[in-house]
Amino acid sequence: MTSMPFDTRLVLINGQWRSGASGQTLPLLNPSDGSLLTEIARGNAADIAAAVDSAQAALDGPWGALTAAERGRILLKMSALTLVQADELARLEALDVGKPIKQGRADAVAMARYLEFYGGAADKVHGETIPFANGYTALTIREPHGVTGHIVPWNYPMQIIGRSVGAALAMGNACVLKPAEEACLTALAFGRIALEAGLPAGALNIVPGLGEEAGAALSSHPGVAHLSFTGSVAVGQMIQAAAAMNTIPVTLELGGKSPQIVFADADLDAALPFLVNAGIQNCGQTCSAASRILVERPVFDEVRARMAERYAALKVGPAMDDPDVGPVISARQREIVQGFLGVARDTGLAIAAQATLPADLPKGGCYVAPTLLAPAAPDHRLAQEEIFGPVQVMIPFDGEAEALKIANGTAYGLVAGVWTRDGGRQLRMARKLHCGQVFINNYGAGGGIELPFGGVKHSGHGREKGFEALYGFSSLKTIAIKHD
Ligand code: NAP
Ligand code: MG
Repeated sequence: MTSMPFDTRLVLINGQWRSGASGQTLPLLNPSDGSLLTEIARGNAADIAAAVDSAQAALDGPWGALTAAERGRILLKMSALTLVQADELARLEALDVGKPIKQGRADAVAMARYLEFYGGAADKVHGETIPFANGYTALTIREPHGVTGHIVPWNYPMQIIGRSVGAALAMGNACVLKPAEEACLTALAFGRIALEAGLPAGALNIVPGLGEEAGAALSSHPGVAHLSFTGSVAVGQMIQAAAAMNTIPVTLELGGKSPQIVFADADLDAALPFLVNAGIQNCGQTCSAASRILVERPVFDEVRARMAERYAALKVGPAMDDPDVGPVISARQREIVQGFLGVARDTGLAIAAQATLPADLPKGGCYVAPTLLAPAAPDHRLAQEEIFGPVQVMIPFDGEAEALKIANGTAYGLVAGVWTRDGGRQLRMARKLHCGQVFINNYGAGGGIELPFGGVKHSGHGREKGFEALYGFSSLKTIAIKHD
């Protein structure tokens, strides 16, 4: 086992690190070489119940008594501590998630920025006064939901914790965080940062464990007042069903099949780095990965050739070597991605480019060769389903109407990118794309702390990031006072 900076086998409940109720642990593997990294607690329903009780006690106690400005100050301190520890956090993420060092460091900096943004925003969420009947004053105030549950996936633990727990704490909620069983280290490090910054006991509780045990217990616990979930559609639907039984709101972010649409008049030099990077960043395991590249026919061959050049130059390797592309998270995820590549082969989907895997990659590592497939029919399985690996498909189109039909023609709707110099077309496309975020002449896979983010259709609902998230993590109360 690799030596760890803290005991990774503990849960955080009521400000204390302790063993999980089951006393059992789960192995945590390093996807760069398949080795056993360390162990984590196998948190269960009893731990979740204790965590929810502790969160409720914090709301009724010192945490609930703080002013918004005081909450904000703690978040700012958490932000500063995160920045100080950015290199160590990047190292933990590289070992645990297989994320190349530079990308992990960027995630740590993003988490710090979320904490800074929401720390600064905590005391700036205003209500309204409403013109009502004569003799009345009516007003609205935003209150915390109460105990919020946060179920986080393995692909961007730090960014997702920053955006969801950061916003929830800013609004005065008390959080129970269930990180993904395959990626817990930076979540646990975050708990230490929170305590060091002076976050009152119980305001943040962390229970690692299996999705079907700790995750299911959290999503069905009657003491939880709001759930935020990022992950697969299938589990998101289960979370929403569990929330329905307690009639509580949920924020679901369930990934996508996001297109970048390249028109023939686009500045291709500007577009090229975004077209490839937004597909292979984090080995393609990004909810807003640009996994479909739609290209207008006159420039299709040129874009394919120029993307292929970039694919050929991609360096794949262990995360600690800081390559362009590391391993996927697990052997299971590699099987999923390779299954899709098998479908591509069996259906005659042409490989336009494939990066070479170095011969000396560690044997137990979960590596997949980044692959560009082109041309694909819009209804091909690989052009419809989320692959969650370093695989992009290219689809040719003729004109705006067809581009829109293809772009909107999947079950998802998270992000889209449009590359064109035509101003009218930029706006027409932005308005008609059925998704939550549109980037014109740029593409921010996962980026944009300030920008509200979330999807439509199977990509989920509710918005995180930006100021908008503060509305999702609070409940609006109307007060009408009769004074005449
Ligand atoms: P997942 O099962 O949806 O996992 C996401 C989170 O939900 C994890 O914390 C997981 O815990 C938890 N979970 C699992 N089952 C649960 C349940 N019954 N009740 C409550 N929580 C539960 O995703 P995955 O299996 O790791 O990945 C599968 C596919 O999901 C990927 O190939 C990709 O397509 C998609 N995905 C999307 C995103 C995104 O950013 N939108 C992120 C990750 C995955 P455990 O992991 O500990 O079981
Ligand atoms: Mg791991």
